[in-house]
Amino acid sequence: MIKINQDLKNEVAQSGPLLIEKGLTPGRDFGDTSLRDPETGFIYILPRPSPRQPICDWSQVTADDVAVINMNGEIVGDSNVLPTIETPMHLRIYEARPEVNGIVHSHGEWSSIFAALRQNIPAVTLDALETICTEEIRCSAYAQIATKELGDSVVEALGKKSKAALMANHGAVCIGTSLNEAFLVAYLLEKLSMQVAFGNILGKPIPITWKDFGDAPTYEEMVP
Ligand SMILES: [Zn+2]
Repeated sequence: MIKINQDLKNEVAQSGPLLIEKGLTPGRDFGDTSLRDPETGFIYILPRPSPRQPICDWSQVTADDVAVINMNGEIVGDSNVLPTIETPMHLRIYEARPEVNGIVHSHGEWSSIFAALRQNIPAVTLDALETICTEEIRCSAYAQIATKELGDSVVEALGKKSKAALMANHGAVCIGTSLNEAFLVAYLLEKLSMQVAFGNILGKPIPITWKDFGDAPTYEEMVP
């Protein structure tokens, strides 16, 4: 018996308007999101607009438009909704990072500057370092859209720990243990990109490292 979780379909449908609201897509169906149900392993993912499923932009997505697939990319359940063309990349990330249960693939306003330059972004604020979990957000090698090669290059740029990577001349991928966390990472990546872009005009932003970050003091140490 195939168990489709309606709440998870709703969560992915609601992420469509969020992409627009948070400046993570220029419109239409650029960028996409997905989540993995840890219980069944099924992936709930934004759809691929087509004549049989016309969607002008992500603000129009309903729960019925959300595709549900397994880790082989096959549609599960009785829906015939096709998943986004970037499905191979989403699957490759879930395969490489078992702890990940949410992905936001953005075409963000600020991070796209660095994707266009194919330039890594140093973490220059504590919140970015702690949330994105890397001293430097790496830019992946260029690969064509909708290919497994794109997934491979993104997985390589993410490495084992980072929660974000840039996609050369394309956008970014932000990941988390939930879709909510992936959205927080995406927000901080945009904020960091703006800070580094403006910081480079005003001076030279100083990267922050894990050594600088140190360990958070215990409550007893803070309140003797
Ligand atoms: Zn894209």
